[in-house]
Amino acid sequence: MYLPQEIIRKKRDNIALTPDEINFFIQGIAKDTVSEGQIAAFAMAVYFNDMTMNERVALTCAMRDSGMVLNWDHMNFGGPIVDKHSTGGVGDVTSLMLGPMVAACGGFVPMISGRGLGHTGGTLDKLESIPGYNIMPSNEVFGQVTKSAGVAIIGQTGDLAPADKRVYATRDITATVDNISLITASILSKKLAAGLESLVMDVKVGSGAFMPTYDASEELAKSIVAVANGAGTKTTALLTDMNQVLASSAGNAVEVREAVQFLTGEYRNPRLFEVTMALCADMLLNAGLAKAESEARAQLQAVLDNGAAAERFGKMVHGLGGPADFVENYDNYLANAAIIKPVFAETSGFAGAMDTRALGMAVVSMGGGRKVASDSIDDAVGLTDMIRLGQTLDNQTPLAVIHARSEAQWQEAAQAVRQAVTVTEQAPAATPDVYRRIRAEDV
Ligand code: URA
Repeated sequence: MYLPQEIIRKKRDNIALTPDEINFFIQGIAKDTVSEGQIAAFAMAVYFNDMTMNERVALTCAMRDSGMVLNWDHMNFGGPIVDKHSTGGVGDVTSLMLGPMVAACGGFVPMISGRGLGHTGGTLDKLESIPGYNIMPSNEVFGQVTKSAGVAIIGQTGDLAPADKRVYATRDITATVDNISLITASILSKKLAAGLESLVMDVKVGSGAFMPTYDASEELAKSIVAVANGAGTKTTALLTDMNQVLASSAGNAVEVREAVQFLTGEYRNPRLFEVTMALCADMLLNAGLAKAESEARAQLQAVLDNGAAAERFGKMVHGLGGPADFVENYDNYLANAAIIKPVFAETSGFAGAMDTRALGMAVVSMGGGRKVASDSIDDAVGLTDMIRLGQTLDNQTPLAVIHARSEAQWQEAAQAVRQAVTVTEQAPAATPDVYRRIRAEDV
């Protein structure tokens, strides 16, 4: 028998906790026998003294098991169950292409996604710009669509990792969010409760990333790979660039439009293509659907070229309540903003640097994201034709095209976009799309 305060004292005194102590504490959180004050003290003790990898594994498993853990055995999918998670970014629409691409290569992707957080966009908010798309189906429909389309992207339906919900709410108001042990357990407990066999983690690096520096992003990626593998889920991570908007657009309907255009081949932003292909290739490798990266990439290119990936996307959309002809006629369904016009830089030169966080906030300010949880989203607003670092800016090439609800809103966003992109006389050094890959043997 343990006492919460004795567990907190042990962590406060920098002594490693046993899995049983961690389990007891987390079960108490789920059962409400551990108070908010005790959660806060525990989080602060972890913040200062941190956790060993074994403690992190125990914390993740305890939080994963604090609620429902999905099991897909009864569905007989007939292929590996795989997923990807990203730490979040601006114009990061990869999930919408990656799920269907991996499905078309034989994987099954029951993806539980989130809403936008701070300056980052949310996959669920994007999907809700498709009329009729139900992000909260029953577990039965979730399973059926995953089986028939190979992919279903939805919001959290069941009671997955309820202990994380309480811990996160307390961390958020006690300055204890930015601790790698707690972040690792928070992200992984929710993901691993979805019954995955393997996972690829996309950890963003740069001015629009959740982690403040390259080193912090790398440390988080290593922690996630070590802990997820320790918890029994084969996991790799990619460190990918978020020093600029990833896609050519940022917003909700505008990103869905770009995702469909990517799948059909109408338009593919090269950076988005590279990051999506790298993540998909790792998913196929982790799932045993390809033996080498070149083989994985060839399979992925084939399902883009032969239309199979676009077909899977269409099937998912229709299976979850959206229009049957969405892929063919997306422009008939996606909202358009009242004002759509370009913003130009005040001087010519090169796009030298981007404050990607500020660009994300410009979209949020227009109503494309939430400032408080109860805000509703304006699907139509956002940025398209976003300049890429190193491109030349002149009076022909805009910084972006702004999709706004009104002229006043356009003016405000134009000011924010001009401020967020630094114009330089020299072209900046190119940054890689993918910095590095982290596998279990690297940590
Ligand atoms: N995202 C999460 O889900 N949890 C964290 O702790 C941080 C980011």
